[in-house]
Amino acid sequence: MDLDQVRRRLEANEERLSPFATRSSASRGRERPEAPSPLRTAFQRDRDRILHTKAFRRLKHKTQVFIAPAQDHYVTRLTHTLEVAQVARTIARALNLNEDLAEAAALGHDIGHGPFGHAGEEALAECLPDGFRHNYQSVRVLDTLENGGQGLNLTYEVLEAVKKSSKAREDIFAEGWGIPETLEGQVVKTADAIAYVNHDILDAVRAGIITEDDLPDSSRRDLGQNHSERLNTLISDIVEASWDATGAGPNPAIRFSPRVHAAANELREFMFQRVYLYDQTREEAERGKRIVIFLFRHFAAHPESISRDYSLPGDPIERRAADYVSGMTDRFALRIARELGCTDAIGWKADGR
Ligand code: MG
Repeated sequence: MDLDQVRRRLEANEERLSPFATRSSASRGRERPEAPSPLRTAFQRDRDRILHTKAFRRLKHKTQVFIAPAQDHYVTRLTHTLEVAQVARTIARALNLNEDLAEAAALGHDIGHGPFGHAGEEALAECLPDGFRHNYQSVRVLDTLENGGQGLNLTYEVLEAVKKSSKAREDIFAEGWGIPETLEGQVVKTADAIAYVNHDILDAVRAGIITEDDLPDSSRRDLGQNHSERLNTLISDIVEASWDATGAGPNPAIRFSPRVHAAANELREFMFQRVYLYDQTREEAERGKRIVIFLFRHFAAHPESISRDYSLPGDPIERRAADYVSGMTDRFALRIARELGCTDAIGWKADGR
């Protein structure tokens, strides 16, 4: 039998998607041409390639907001990534868009995050002359560093959606890092914000930094009284306000209704002020930052100790140090820094790691 008929059937199924959906058979393709998979579409194959990387596995020990938490219920980069993938798939499916493209981009979107969350990102941005952004690093991990320095040779659409998944602080839809070309990329960008604002509320309540009562009035009035109501409102609203994306109207774009958009932005700003920039988390973040800078300087001065698995031997020393350090999990960074005598790491209070 001809196994390729499986992929051809899957591609034929995509003809039933919205006229504005991205079809895998119409992908702009991979940098290096490859024979197609007999059993999977191009986007399904990309999703699987991302899932099987070492960088993806390391997400389980990378911080979302609370650094190397001793308690098991905090969100990690891995659980965040899975939540984003789930929210993105729900929205993509509801709008008859390509769920596989959304899932692949969601699974890869944070894969370039360094240790200690945004603190690690800030630290590396200070160390490198050209700065450091986790979304660009995600593309670098997927396209260059993984697979023994060959990259995963993903499709253009997946890489483009990952690159533009970051959001500016002022608005979930601000153009800061560019608007993804595909609707599926736009879905992932929005799903990321929906996921993190909501799970970070739970974590902040868990940490005793806020209570549900502290949330802005607009959040309780327009989004809901608890986690599941808020998530449900945000996702349902996106589907309704973006209905043109199904082919029903002339203006396909992923958007909230004005009322929910305002409430979501207010909630996000509240999280910036009360949680992301809060003194206690900030103090921990500053410490994480110092550890990352310590590690960067150490490996930039001792490039012979940089693992060849996580950097390219021909790259400039600083680039190699940044690639290596940004690939570290929180606990690995703490352990190495402690072994190297970094006082911030030696005094770290989290559960003896
Ligand atoms: Mg994210």
